[in-house]
Amino acid sequence: MINDKCMKFVVLGSGSSVPHPKRSSSAFWLETASGSILLDFAASAIHRMAQENLDWANLDAIWISHFHLDHCGGLAPFLFGTRNAPEMQSRTKPLKIFGAKGTEKLVKSFDEANNYKLFKQPFLLEICEVEPLEEFEILPETRAVTMKTPHTDESLAIHIRDKNDKTLVYSSDTGFTKSLGAFARNVDLFVMECSFFKDKPAEKHLNLDEAMFLTRYANPKKAMLTHFYAEWDAVDFRAEVEKFEPPCEIIEAQDGLKVEI
Ligand SMILES: [Zn+2]
Ligand SMILES: [Zn+2]
Repeated sequence: MINDKCMKFVVLGSGSSVPHPKRSSSAFWLETASGSILLDFAASAIHRMAQENLDWANLDAIWISHFHLDHCGGLAPFLFGTRNAPEMQSRTKPLKIFGAKGTEKLVKSFDEANNYKLFKQPFLLEICEVEPLEEFEILPETRAVTMKTPHTDESLAIHIRDKNDKTLVYSSDTGFTKSLGAFARNVDLFVMECSFFKDKPAEKHLNLDEAMFLTRYANPKKAMLTHFYAEWDAVDFRAEVEKFEPPCEIIEAQDGLKVEI
């Protein structure tokens, strides 16, 4: 556990769905004074958690932002592993999975594909489906609220406030909407996708200029950009960000990066 006043945020995957040598797909570890949350669960994340020496066997909650496989593809493989992992056999506390309507069906579909018994765990597995704008307790004394994002039918951004009033917004994948800036207003860390540098080929993602607009609109203490496609490899991130004279520190997500909130 960490300094009681801080949340710890670890980037497990700063990339997209496309294979990349240095950026695995979306997953972020958030450690709070009330427990740990995995924000999105790419297939690569089951090993990335171990590589970063994170206490995955005691993970308290999982947040699934939407059903694109670079955000949820690790869920079924993880539950397949936890059934037999020695580290999990004496676990008594439940593992809670939060996500949009359809999350339970998603896990069931995997389960039924080969009778994996994913719901038969040594511990209690709870799936909690949430609506846009629903407020819920994601961990004890840790409040969360969601916002519908223009990406897929079910995609949600999440705002988390821990018991020490530290706040974080994770946009996950999204197209441009000013509401996201309002949703993230004054948070301590605004984690936002920035799939493309410019001239985005997909309406349902963000360019750098849009991400910088939303940062200015939100006025967070710090912002982190992530979900980079390979076209970013040729870009000088720092130099391009500075051109916008950002209102706060803008962090480039990199696999393994750790930030205190
Ligand atoms: Zn994605
Ligand atoms: Zn997506």
